Amino acid sequence: MSEGSSCYFLGGRNNGARFYDYFLIMFKRKGDHPVGILEGKKGLILGIANNKSIAWGVAQAATREGAELGFNYLGDSLEKRVRPLAESVGSTLIEPLDVTDDAQMDEFFAKVEAQWGTLDFLVHSIAFANKDALHNPFSTTTREDFHLALDISAYSFIAVAQRAAKIMNPGGSLVTMSYLGAVRAVPGYGVMGVAKAALEASTRYLAQDLGEHGIRVNAVSAGPIRTLAASAVGDFRKLMEKSARGSMLGRNVTQEEVGNTTAYLLSDLSSGVTGEVHYVDSGFHIGAGDPGIAQD
Ligand code: NAP
Repeated sequence: MSEGSSCYFLGGRNNGARFYDYFLIMFKRKGDHPVGILEGKKGLILGIANNKSIAWGVAQAATREGAELGFNYLGDSLEKRVRPLAESVGSTLIEPLDVTDDAQMDEFFAKVEAQWGTLDFLVHSIAFANKDALHNPFSTTTREDFHLALDISAYSFIAVAQRAAKIMNPGGSLVTMSYLGAVRAVPGYGVMGVAKAALEASTRYLAQDLGEHGIRVNAVSAGPIRTLAASAVGDFRKLMEKSARGSMLGRNVTQEEVGNTTAYLLSDLSSGVTGEVHYVDSGFHIGAGDPGIAQD
């Protein structure tokens, strides 16, 4: 109890009534569970590879805030890692989905509709590019590598949004994950930066289309976090060091911080926000810090 609240009992008139008020407040605090910002909502989290995935940070925050979640996995080997994580947050909707496969995408959303009927939110946390395409000079990008990166990392957001929107309740929210390489030339990010630029533009055009149905579409631009996908990016260790040094907070962000901000964007607390790219990067993007990788 704080000093201020203990003083509540001292002196003044009508102490009995004050004690009763205090009792009511304490009873409410201890007896009632605080209502989470996603209480009563059902949502899909796409893109968990393991417990280091950004999508897992979102899943943990959304569960804490009261949401019921559904998940995808890519192939049998990933099912072994995704299923235990999904079950640990009480999920009973865990289905295969490779976003390059339209038939599997239709099947996935048909299962979601059969089990839940409607949907309140979707998180798209999926990206892929051939490692060589990230390591070789950007100017040597092949047509094949360009198509692959843009298809999996940008078009897939449009593809899942168009299916999710059909079963989404008004007030629904779609969030995707981007990176600063969309708007700055970051060494070692190459074709993925072009894919993220397309993803951020898609976020704005989806927001324009889906706004009339009361559906919001936003992107989170996260600072670097050590994950499986990140290991494909150039010299990621140096990128992280530079990002921490050049940021306003002097440190990198965590999976939890990206999860918490995403939970806000999924919730009604952000009901007036759409078409936005929201940076969760310790303020790196507003500074003059160089995200590039040192040559030495
Ligand atoms: P991650 O754990 O490796 O997640 C990427 C996910 O995309 C994996 O689950 C991956 O599955 C999935 N994926 C790839 N191809 C797919 C396909 N065809 N169909 C379905 N799923 C597919 O890495 P992460 O860092 O959390 O990445 C999540 C998102 O955050 C990505 O969009 C990434 O660009 C973005 N982001 C990451 C950072 C960072 O520093 N980590 C910063 C900003 C933005 P597989 O593992 O089986 O390929």
